[in-house]
Amino acid sequence: MGSKVSVDDSVHVVIVGGGFGGIAAASQLKSWGVPFVLVDMRDAFHHNVGALRASVESGFAKKTFIPYSVTFKDSFRQAKVVGIDLPKQQVLLNDGGELSFSHLILATGSDGPFPGKFNKIIDMESAIQTYEDMVKEVQKAPRIIVVGGGSAGVEMAAEIKTDYPAKEVTLIHSRVALADLKEILLRKGVHLLMSERVSNLHTLTLNQFQENLLVRTDKGTEVAADLVIVCSGIKINSSAYSSAFGDKLASDGALKINEHLQVEGYDNIYAIGDCADLKGPKLAYSAGLHANIAVTNILNSLTQKPLKTYRPGSLTLLLSMGRNDGVGQVNGCYVGHLLVTFAKSRDIFVSQSWKNMGQIIPR
Ligand SMILES: Cc1cc2nc3c(=O)[nH]c(=O)nc-3n(C[C@H](O)[C@H](O)[C@H](O)COP(=O)(O)OP(=O)(O)OC[C@H]3O[C@@H](n4cnc5c(N)ncnc54)[C@H](O)[C@@H]3O)c2cc1C
Repeated sequence: MGSKVSVDDSVHVVIVGGGFGGIAAASQLKSWGVPFVLVDMRDAFHHNVGALRASVESGFAKKTFIPYSVTFKDSFRQAKVVGIDLPKQQVLLNDGGELSFSHLILATGSDGPFPGKFNKIIDMESAIQTYEDMVKEVQKAPRIIVVGGGSAGVEMAAEIKTDYPAKEVTLIHSRVALADLKEILLRKGVHLLMSERVSNLHTLTLNQFQENLLVRTDKGTEVAADLVIVCSGIKINSSAYSSAFGDKLASDGALKINEHLQVEGYDNIYAIGDCADLKGPKLAYSAGLHANIAVTNILNSLTQKPLKTYRPGSLTLLLSMGRNDGVGQVNGCYVGHLLVTFAKSRDIFVSQSWKNMGQIIPR
């Protein structure tokens, strides 16, 4: 990357969604000098991988929101995309605006419960304050239940136990935990309730301190707590494109794509990140790899070069278990906790994102 490519005036890329995939694509197009607009409904990139620490450690939330306009200037447009007019090659915005595209990258990602995700249309300062308010709820509660033992739930429980070892933290998960995760969680003092599903979630107040909340499971177990945090239930954000691509949607709303990450039947429209229908876990790391393929293929198609094929490779996932522990795999091989702690757990990759966006991380 670095040198500019010369493209004719008809080339204008629109990227919908400024999550991990969208900002990686925008940064690459910027460095190649290809005209683009990045559209997101918010004013700042949300580093949601760091969201769990932001809800436990006061002062961390400001590191997890990075303003788009400082990096992308006039190439950033804040708006919610409400539709796509395929015949006219236009993206339709909630404020009545329209953005014409020669190439489109769809990177609308996924949504889920706060604090792991925060897909509200809200300004950066209020978003940071919402996380700081959550820190206070965690501080007040002596007994906390985390619902959902996927990677987010496991990290949440470990974050709380690392900062507040005296709190009683219970993780409830409908399946069985992986052996090595179980070991770390038990070592940290997290109570595990595996193969049980919470049955009264809809009656519980979430993310707010409330004494003696009673959480029930489908097996009849009852656990008392003062704060309940849900870390499961990720859904694909498909509202921007669902009416345009009705027949190209997988059952979860992700876009069906070919090996070049082009939406089936369209050679100028790409889907990357969580909203792309690809096998395997949905990861920020993968979203970055997809962005690279999509941008390369846009450039290759403009210069009559063969398109690159996306090959997923083996799993790379690092789980931080609080700032001083972790577990993970790189290219399918297990890596030790020291490496994970050094690479991820200390700052959850937030410094890297500020660096990638050419901005200085607030201290
Ligand atoms: C708590 C948690 C921890 C995680 N930890 C890890 C980890 O350690 N490592 C890892 O690799 N992955 C991790 N993940 C997964 C990772 O966060 C996702 O895979 C990643 O965010 C996907 O990136 P994305 O660009 O596809 O979408 P997202 O990050 O979801 O971003 C989508 C963007 O699109 C915008 N958007 C959506 N719809 C519209 C619209 N209609 N108009 C305008 N804008 C729109 C949203 O505002 C958002 O900014 C974690 C996820 C969670 C929830």
